[in-house]
Amino acid sequence: MSLTEISAHIAKAEAAAGRPEGAAQLIAVSKRQPDARVIEVLEQGHRLFGENQVQEAAGKWPIFRETYPDAKVHLLGPLQTNKARQAMGLFDAIHSLDRPKLAKTLARLAQEEGHCPELFIQVNTGEEAQKSGVLPSEIEAFVVECSALDLPVVGLMCIPPVDEEPSLHFALLAKLAARTGLSGLSMGMSGDYERAVALGATHVRVGSAIFGARDY
Ligand SMILES: *Cc1c(COP(=O)(O)O)cnc(C)c1O
Repeated sequence: MSLTEISAHIAKAEAAAGRPEGAAQLIAVSKRQPDARVIEVLEQGHRLFGENQVQEAAGKWPIFRETYPDAKVHLLGPLQTNKARQAMGLFDAIHSLDRPKLAKTLARLAQEEGHCPELFIQVNTGEEAQKSGVLPSEIEAFVVECSALDLPVVGLMCIPPVDEEPSLHFALLAKLAARTGLSGLSMGMSGDYERAVALGATHVRVGSAIFGARDY
């Protein structure tokens, strides 16, 4: 599907939900895509991208940014504390703040560097053992902890279990965000971004629907 078609679907979902146009931002997930495809999307004027790995992003975005200095890149994948400093220099936002140790590391680095990307707390809405993220029952305490560390937390993020109706997870995430006073909602991927917009997503993360299947 083209970027234009996806943007039109988002606008339609926003209107149907009575939300203003542009309420949900489209993050084009460029992980493991050939450079030529990413450049096509940059050439179409799109400027917000998502990556899963620090290493991969470090290999391409500093180069893309020489030509497109206003491109913004968000980290969507898990972040190891030993890569946190590098991530802070590369990304405009991090969607995977998922544990106290990472919060403490980011807070210390933010002090040292004098800046910090905007942060989304990843919530394990499906309470899956193999998935990272803060459990719904622990989210309020974690938000308080991050706020005591002066971290710029702007919202919550989730990746629903593959075999469940994502809308239930989007609704839960929206409820948790309302309860903790956070306005950002990073939810919805290629297969379910319209449902996420209907339930209040402020950021949808769409990869394969824009770029085609990934190069594994
Ligand atoms: C890869 C990825 C996406 C995009 O997935 P698609 O199904 O290709 O749209 C979104 N969010 C995260 C966290 C991802 O890792």
